[in-house]
Formats: sequence, C-alpha cells, structure tokens
Amino acid sequence: MTALTTISGFDRIGEENAFAVLARATALAAEGKDIINLGIGQPDFKTPDHIVEAAIKALRDGHHGYTPATGILPLREAVAADIHQRYDATVSPDNIMIMPGGKVTMYAAILLFGQPGAEILYPDPGFPIYRSMIEFTGATPIPVPIREENSFAFSAEETLSLITDKTRLIIINSPANPTGGVTPKAEIDALVAGLVNRPDIAIMSDEIYDRMTYDGEQHVSLLGYPEIRDRLIVLNGWSKTYAMTGWRMGWSVWPDALYDKVRKLAVNAWSCVNAPAQYAGIAALTGPQDAVAEMMTAFDHRRHIVVERLNQLPGVSCAVPKGAFYAFPNIKQTGWRAKQLASALLEEAGVATIGGPDFGILGEGYIRLSYANSAENIERAITRMADFMEQTKAP
Ligand code: PLP
Repeated sequence: MTALTTISGFDRIGEENAFAVLARATALAAEGKDIINLGIGQPDFKTPDHIVEAAIKALRDGHHGYTPATGILPLREAVAADIHQRYDATVSPDNIMIMPGGKVTMYAAILLFGQPGAEILYPDPGFPIYRSMIEFTGATPIPVPIREENSFAFSAEETLSLITDKTRLIIINSPANPTGGVTPKAEIDALVAGLVNRPDIAIMSDEIYDRMTYDGEQHVSLLGYPEIRDRLIVLNGWSKTYAMTGWRMGWSVWPDALYDKVRKLAVNAWSCVNAPAQYAGIAALTGPQDAVAEMMTAFDHRRHIVVERLNQLPGVSCAVPKGAFYAFPNIKQTGWRAKQLASALLEEAGVATIGGPDFGILGEGYIRLSYANSAENIERAITRMADFMEQTKAP
C-alpha cells in the first residue's frame, strides 16, 4: 500500500470507450490523417441560436451566481410543462432535478441503490456507464440481453425473469444506445404490469433519446404509468435533442422519497448547474422547435443512407434503427472480431466507429456507427470501409 493506493470501488470503475476513440481520432487528425468520425454520440449540429442568445443574455443580466441545487424554478416549471404537453403526464416541478448532464442522473440513481449484495438489471448491449457505476458501488450487475431478433427492443418477460429477492433497481433505455432500438408500448405495458406488485424495486428509465424516433413512432414514456410513479426515476436532458452535449444540462424526475437525497447529493458534489445554461434550457423548451424537427429530418435521411450502404458490405447486415442516431450492424459473417475491426477501420481506413463489446458482452459481432455526421461523410466513410474490407482479410 502506498499513499496513492485508492480505496472503495475505484479499481472497478469503468469508462466510456467512445471518449478514447474520440481522443485517438483527434490525435490521428492532428497528424494530418483524414479521419471521418462516426464514433462519438453527439449531434453534429450547432445549438440553435436562440438558445445560445438566451445564455448570453442571462450572463449580461447578471445570472452568474449559484442557483438552488435543484435548479431554478422557471426551468423546472418549463420541464414540467414540456412533460405535460408531450406525454400528458402531470409532474410537479418539485419532483424535477436539473442535473449537469443526463449522465449524472444514472450516477445518482445507481449510487442510491447500489451496494454489495444488491442486484441491478441493465441493458446489454447498453450505455457503458450503467455497468461501470453498478460495479463501482459493489452491487452485482445483471445484464438484460437486448437482441437483434427482437429488433433490439427489451423483452419484458426476460427482464422480469431476471428479478430476484436482491433486485433493487431496473434500468431501461428506449430509444436505445447503441442499437437504435425502440421498445414497443405492449412490451413496456407488460414490464410495468409485472412490476406493480414489486414496490421494493425502483426503475430508472433513460429517455434521453425520447424526441429521436422515426416513421411517426411515438415515444412511450414511463411517466405515463402512474402505478409505478412512487419508485420511478426518469433520466432526460438537453444534450441530444437540442445539440447541447457540451452544455452539460440534464433533467430528471424523482419520486418524493428520493428527491431530497438527490438534492443533498447535488449540494455535496456540484452545488448547482451552470446558471446561464439553465436559462438557455428554458429557451430550448419554450422557444421554437423547428431546429429539432430539421435535425431529425437530416438524421432520418442519413439513417436510410447508412443502412442501405452498410447492407451492401460483404458479411454485414444492418437492421433499420427506429430511434436515436446509431446504426448497429451485425458483422458476424465478416470473420472480424468487433473491436479489432473498429480499431483497424480507424487506423487503416480513417473511419472512427465503436466496437460492440464496448457496450457489453452481447455487443460482440456488432459495431456502432453514429450517423451524426454529414450524408457526404457517411457515404465516404462507408466507401472506405468497403475498400478496406475488400482488401484486408479478417485476421
Ligand atoms: N444515456 C444514454 C443512453 C446516452 O447515450 C447518453 C450519452 O451518450 C447519456 C445518457 C448521457 O447524456 P449526457 O451527455 O447528457 O450526459
């Protein structure tokens, strides 16, 4: 043991490989290589002007001090109004927390329920921080398989079958990262029905991609199920919908019994969210939504290009994503291991993607492409992939 030996769960904490891929792609680009980045999950659009202006105005108006730890009331009211308008659900602003990004809600939720002996269910493949945080707390991660055969929706039956006496929290995510899967309402109905008699199990629904569905599909929020509200945490935020990943702005809904605990966590850890960013958040929710619609039209167009072009690659088959901005092609027939292929594509072909295993054990055989890049770059990237895979045999 040295002074720098760390304690508690720090030898178990994981990370998000998308950031490592971004760093490597940036380093290669700095060396003069032409890199097309389909790795990182952030919109390639600018935050709409009226949102930026609202933050500038807030600073000019003197909003540069601390705010309440839970977030300013007008912003929490705007979130409540947005929830009401879009989901027809009534949530009090006093149950809404403004968080420094969507991620912090999962951090808080997993911290609240994770401890040795507890089991937490989470989607695999899924956002890597779920498992990382579960392991950090010493709880046992129980992967819920997300299967291509099931159109990358979660199965209520399979999820319920994994519940034991030790289950404390169930994490669900639809529309989903990394698969683009959207779970149908019937499945969510069945999950909720199965949980009604388990008031000892909390649910965290990660709905960060709720505005990002295609073909007229309507997002089904867990906020629409009053029977589980007393133990439901909903994660959402501004990052994806309004192209605001770097602003670090998220919101979440908490049951009465947990709200004050999260408020105290905020007081201990981050005090409050950046004040001008909160004013920008109001402008985003209450201002014109045209930019969101325009962004989704562009994503939809690219979605078709990605799927069509990927399906032309030998050994690759790609299901049509129903939400978010990710394609998750099956590469099992190419003979490549997913992470090896992702790494070779970056180093040899200048295309950044993420290997499926970075999202869980069941991610083997898949890679994730984010289509948050121009249609032209997507075309160029897949042409490069085609050339590379034609010329290079799988090792
Ligand atoms: N949840 C999912 C499923 C995500 O994909 C992401 C970001 O990629 C987040 C949460 C975190 O969002 P934020 O950048 O607002 O922390």
